Amino acid sequence: MGTIGAEFSRFVRRDNLLLKPVPPTGRLGVGRNPPCYTSRAVPELPELEVVREVLTRRLAGRRIEAVTLAPKGAAVVVRDLTGEGFVSLLTGVLLGEVHRRGKFLLFDFPRAPFTLAVNPKLSGRFQLCAPGDKKAGPVHVTFHMAEPREDLRYVDSKQMGQLYLTRDTRRIPTFDEMGPDALDIGLEDFQRRLRSFRGEIKGILTRAPFVAGIGNAYADEILWQARLHPYRKRTALTAEEIVTLHQAMRQTLIDSTEKVRREMGDDVHLKPRDFFVVHLRGGQPCPRCGTPISEITANQRVTSFCRTCQPGGLVRGVS
Ligand SMILES: [Zn+2]
Repeated sequence: MGTIGAEFSRFVRRDNLLLKPVPPTGRLGVGRNPPCYTSRAVPELPELEVVREVLTRRLAGRRIEAVTLAPKGAAVVVRDLTGEGFVSLLTGVLLGEVHRRGKFLLFDFPRAPFTLAVNPKLSGRFQLCAPGDKKAGPVHVTFHMAEPREDLRYVDSKQMGQLYLTRDTRRIPTFDEMGPDALDIGLEDFQRRLRSFRGEIKGILTRAPFVAGIGNAYADEILWQARLHPYRKRTALTAEEIVTLHQAMRQTLIDSTEKVRREMGDDVHLKPRDFFVVHLRGGQPCPRCGTPISEITANQRVTSFCRTCQPGGLVRGVS
């Protein structure tokens, strides 16, 4: 393992025991084609954690036979920070485990001292399919694998996501500014770091320099679990409420990861994020108290919450 590989071993989470083991999906390439897998857009920690598991299970130990960049789009989404050529460096390399840090997926290459870091942002998706399978959108990069023949595609309808090939992750914009991963941060660190952030608690939870991995959707779910109004000021939270928030964050993310994993299983009737309690459930009864869920849109972001379970907070002119 090269030095970069050793460096990334610290991104492997140590608390996997909290998550149920991944069910085996059977041997690939024996008698039937592996299923076509497409990740969802706007992923947050639970979705990316499951993408990481799927890609590791299906790709680790396999060789990238060839790399194709689309004539349009790839120039926008691909950033070769090595200066040595994205296609030439990645052609022929063995894939190792996929790691996750906040909303970045990190592809490790056990015999090569570089890393491919992908931040799908709002519109990037992965597809791991047979070469002839339907594309989920405009494909910018394709990694071709043999035995069985499969393509790992990076699809991005708005070209908002980014793929960085680098020998040093410190060169990736915003990577070093990330706080601890939301699944890794302990209570004391959470309390201490929170003191240096001001403003509304929902805004702070979604800020990667505070904790990495939480976006708009899971912030709503976490705050409902913690019974905290999303627009409460951080400075107005009691010590007890902060402890509750930390617990709710961990539990929501752990439970949701398990639910996302189940969505990908044999039950085809499960729709993505069917398990959400408040986010985008405006008007539906709160499962805890029956009050219709409130929904407020500000800065093109929807915030959903229960006025009864999550009291307080100045709601920008709405009482
Ligand atoms: Zn309620």
